[in-house]
Amino acid sequence: MGDRLKLVLLGPPGAGKGTQSVVLSRKYNIPHISTGDILREAVKSSQALGIKAKAFMDRGELVPDEIVTGIVIDRLSKKDAKKGFILDGFPRTLKQARSLDESLKNISSGIDIVIYFETSSKVAIERLSGRRVCKKCGFNYHIKNIPPKKDGICDKCGGELFQRPDDKEETVVNRLKIYEAETKPLIDYYVKKGILKKVSGGLSVDNLFKVLSNIFADAKLV
Ligand code: AMP
Repeated sequence: MGDRLKLVLLGPPGAGKGTQSVVLSRKYNIPHISTGDILREAVKSSQALGIKAKAFMDRGELVPDEIVTGIVIDRLSKKDAKKGFILDGFPRTLKQARSLDESLKNISSGIDIVIYFETSSKVAIERLSGRRVCKKCGFNYHIKNIPPKKDGICDKCGGELFQRPDDKEETVVNRLKIYEAETKPLIDYYVKKGILKKVSGGLSVDNLFKVLSNIFADAKLV
């Protein structure tokens, strides 16, 4: 199982891509590659990459294509990504998508399927503003939809929950604007390649997982 699942999750911030990636990664035993997580980790540990990326992230802008594409290509060349992977938050521009296609030609066969999480801005804003993340293990909660058992404390590891600085309302609006301008055109790019499947990002975590499992089974990917 999971031998050929090379997956891209596309959709606005707050569509539930990260949450679904965690579940899918566990189920199909393939790595979850989130450029946002990699960049945040680099910021936290003050790596050169993090220092370059931080200002863009704080403003809710995209980190330059060359930087992000380099990170992903490097990550995809690792052994654990040979049997499949979930790309979450990459590609986000047409240039990134073209570079990904080009580099996959050398590493392995191309992307099997792109899942587009169709989500209204209202739902995205509601999800992002209520999101809380564990400082220690990175697990995502939502104050209403996925509340922790104890306020402010992670159920999994006891870590402290915090709000990502870029989830504050001023930045969220900018992130959604940039999504519309830069990332939405990718829908058409992947429709033309015949590998895009649309799902509703408004579904619950469990229901969306069922829908996705059926899509992969129907496409004979698992
Ligand atoms: P995310 O956690 O996916 O919402 O990403 C957080 C931030 O990291 C974004 O707002 C961007 O500043 C940056 N970022 C993540 N992925 C990319 C990407 N593929 N291209 C450019 N910037 C990115």
